[in-house]
Amino acid sequence: MNYSDSERVAKILDKLGFVEAYIPEEADLVIVNTCSVRQTAENKAFGFMSNLKKQHPNIILGVTGCMVRQTGDRKSSKDKLFQHKILNFVFRIEDMAKLAKILEQQFPEHDLKKLPAHFGDGSLENYFKIAPKVQNNVQVFVPIMQGCDKFCTYCIVPYTRGREKSRKILEIYEECKNLVKNGAKEITLLGQNVNSYTDGESARGKRCFAKLLLKIDKLHELGLSRLRFTAPHPQDFTDDVITALAEMKTSCPYIHLPSQHGSNTTLRAMGRNYSVEKYEEIIKKLREKMPNLNLATDIIVGFPGETDEQFQELCDFAQRVNFGFSYTAIFSPRKNTPAARMEKDFIPNSVKKERFHKFDEIIKKQAFAMRQKYVGKTLQILVEKSEPTTNGLYKNSGRSREFLEVWFESGRSFIGKEIEIEIEAAQNYVLAGKPVVGLKVVG
Ligand code: SF4
Repeated sequence: MNYSDSERVAKILDKLGFVEAYIPEEADLVIVNTCSVRQTAENKAFGFMSNLKKQHPNIILGVTGCMVRQTGDRKSSKDKLFQHKILNFVFRIEDMAKLAKILEQQFPEHDLKKLPAHFGDGSLENYFKIAPKVQNNVQVFVPIMQGCDKFCTYCIVPYTRGREKSRKILEIYEECKNLVKNGAKEITLLGQNVNSYTDGESARGKRCFAKLLLKIDKLHELGLSRLRFTAPHPQDFTDDVITALAEMKTSCPYIHLPSQHGSNTTLRAMGRNYSVEKYEEIIKKLREKMPNLNLATDIIVGFPGETDEQFQELCDFAQRVNFGFSYTAIFSPRKNTPAARMEKDFIPNSVKKERFHKFDEIIKKQAFAMRQKYVGKTLQILVEKSEPTTNGLYKNSGRSREFLEVWFESGRSFIGKEIEIEIEAAQNYVLAGKPVVGLKVVG
């Protein structure tokens, strides 16, 4: 989501006449798009900005993203972030069109260009109308909604990103169509809860994520190969979405479905409104339609009150479900969330770390075993990176439709192409291979 937001901010700066610097140290202006999902993310952002300002005191520093509550500069905003003296301005991401005015004040000696009228006044609708400045036109990200109404007890997102609001189907379709005409082969639809999508309505509107998927799938005729999305919520994973995925030409056998835990007691304490049984039922249905599904998840270990038994339930759950990857986090309290007030049930750090490593070992083994099964098989790779090697070849790397990372060497760069690769070896989370004889390259 932040990557996609940054592309929109880049477009505004472009329109105002700013030119991109190659490294932050060369810039007159740096805008940091922050994440506040964990305290370490906030600490890293401040570490980066403090170092930069120390070395280049004249740099103008702005902050956006989840850490910001109020748009403005030091005089006009009471945002708590201004306790940090190094900052010049802050803006909420949905207010990004207001950036023009802020920057006029920060750079009075420069004659900034005017923003096009459709960039509007900084409302959410106008935010969506700002076409991103894409870094890579083959793999693109398209936000379909903003905000979240779920209020999981550990999460700050509903307070930082606000309530759920989705875009209109036709507006999303038109954006995707233009991106495909411009060379996009892979689109990732973005939202905090993509499958509670409601076609422009509030979260109480009718869910219609399957309809959106089927509509965008039609762009296969124009060259779209892969349609991905992140992240769905188990509570809204309805059968029509599973049926749509099975019918689509552009769907990929990779789903990132956050489960967060494997104990019903912990799930309830987390405010996740589904059971372990419901999660497993969804996966069973998905695997019936997509036998080679690569399933990724998000897990929090050490949630307040998590007993040894509940942690064991989590491990048993992972063994049954069999994940290809897990974004596992150790619980860290986020200020002003209900879980941060469960202090008396906090788990000691040493126990949390021990559980994290134990769980990580389970996932590592599953991930490796799953990847090993592909040795000797052929996967279709969309090449994302290609670097010359010292032996005069290119090291290409990219992802299969199953979202498996694969690298291979070849006599030329295949960046932006889809290519068939015969897998020769599995190394933890990465596969290595070679182009198949009688090479088929698309694009
Ligand atoms: Fe946060 Fe829960 Fe919403 Fe995900 S669903 S963004 S974890 S509140």
